[in-house]
Amino acid sequence: MTTYDFDLFVIGGGSGGVRAARMAAQRGARVALAEVLGTEGLGGTCVNVGCIPKKLYSYAAHYAEAAEEAHGFGWEGTAPTLNWDTLKTNRAKEISRLNGVYSHLLHGSGVVVMNGFARLTSEHTLTVATLNADGSAGHQEVSAQHILVATGGTPHVPHFSGREHVITSDDVFDLPTFPQRLVVVGGGYIACEFASIFNGLGSRVTQLYRGEQVLRGFDDEIRHFLAAEMAKAGVDLRLNAGVVSVRQQGDGLHVLLEDGNTLQADAVLYATGRVPNVAGLGLDAVGVAQGAQGAVLVNAQYQTNVPHIYAVGDVTARVQLTPVALGEAMVVVDQLFGPAAGKPARTMGYDCIPTAIFTHPNVGTVGLSEAQAREQFGHITLYRSEFRALKHTLSGSTERTLMKLVVDTATDRVVGLHMVGAEAGEIVQGFAVAMKAGATKAVFDSTLGIHPTAAEEFVTMRDPVKAG
Ligand code: NDP
Repeated sequence: MTTYDFDLFVIGGGSGGVRAARMAAQRGARVALAEVLGTEGLGGTCVNVGCIPKKLYSYAAHYAEAAEEAHGFGWEGTAPTLNWDTLKTNRAKEISRLNGVYSHLLHGSGVVVMNGFARLTSEHTLTVATLNADGSAGHQEVSAQHILVATGGTPHVPHFSGREHVITSDDVFDLPTFPQRLVVVGGGYIACEFASIFNGLGSRVTQLYRGEQVLRGFDDEIRHFLAAEMAKAGVDLRLNAGVVSVRQQGDGLHVLLEDGNTLQADAVLYATGRVPNVAGLGLDAVGVAQGAQGAVLVNAQYQTNVPHIYAVGDVTARVQLTPVALGEAMVVVDQLFGPAAGKPARTMGYDCIPTAIFTHPNVGTVGLSEAQAREQFGHITLYRSEFRALKHTLSGSTERTLMKLVVDTATDRVVGLHMVGAEAGEIVQGFAVAMKAGATKAVFDSTLGIHPTAAEEFVTMRDPVKAG
């Protein structure tokens, strides 16, 4: 029988990789994980340059709103001003604490963490280019019965003149000086979130999107409503807009637009999608099948076409969300090493993935958009509520909230639930459980509200807006 150094070798120390390594080790497997630990520690995009720092900056931006809105509640005095360096320092401290937590969890479960870049040399062997303690380069050959590719993704910036002057979400958290004028290019999660956040922090933000409306794929009404709220909050959102070139001039960056206008900016943030991190992994040499932009192709068990090599998370370019990578990692571990004691093997469903966009106001959504539901079920019933949140009756803010339910008329099942408004992510998470359980509109109707909250609107919408 062939013996290997490890039962599982994980390439990548992000959400999916760390979860898989830790859980496999807890099941008694011999596990190693390779990650290049440089300026960024363990935890991948989510911890270092994604979800966590983004949410912290979103909180920071909300304080500006809160300070303004407090006047209506009787608070007096001038608003505080942002110290960008303090925010950056405190964020960095928290991120390095989290890096430490991840490291502690891995070491505590017995995972061998290798600081280096791993490359596949055969179906069962890898070379890890390591950095020795004295700074010299070394390398280590290892073998493993199973290999998991969990290398995530990286921002993609299209080619155009002046591309070298723009930044991505990897750079935006640590800009040396606060950008008073920020141009954001893109209309997806990242572009909308950073446009909102920097607008809240005090930048003059122009967001350029190439299409008719931001957040393609989301419910149309939600897209339009959010765009209007973002514009009301101060984001200069320009649709059907594109960049020709970016030039560095004495007074900042000059962004030449397709319509002939020029914008001046201190920073230009490109949030035009992410591509899988596959360069140098040796996937082609070993014959791992790859799709568009190098995405690792996997079957329903997260197995590539090469036996014993698996992949989860953003490197598969399917649903690029941390909880999805975590879920996929746990399915792989249960398959390979058995489920946790007394628990059934985990499965992963992609039909009701709740998600939030941390714009100001937030978007929260689970299930199908109106258009998707109409296509899938034919007859749908819609419920909709739009209102000014109680807080804003005194705050002076004109922000409005939209909530929407999409119901399959034939079965009465709620198949889509959408919200634009404060804490939409927090609210939608709970409703996602009900949706996963197949709740009908009648179940929503029989649920009592919590008064006074915005969330209660989801259980008090009585009259459909459109039938059929
Ligand atoms: P998205 O794929 O969501 O959006 C990319 C945007 O860039 C789209 O608006 C797209 O336009 C536009 N775009 C693409 N190529 C070009 C181009 N060449 N020129 C101009 N515009 C272009 O990617 P993001 O980078 O925003 O985020 C990546 C993923 O990360 C998301 O899909 C999401 O899964 C995840 N994420 C999740 C978050 C959360 O859960 N809150 C937060 C941040 C990211 P078009 O629509 O026309 O194609």
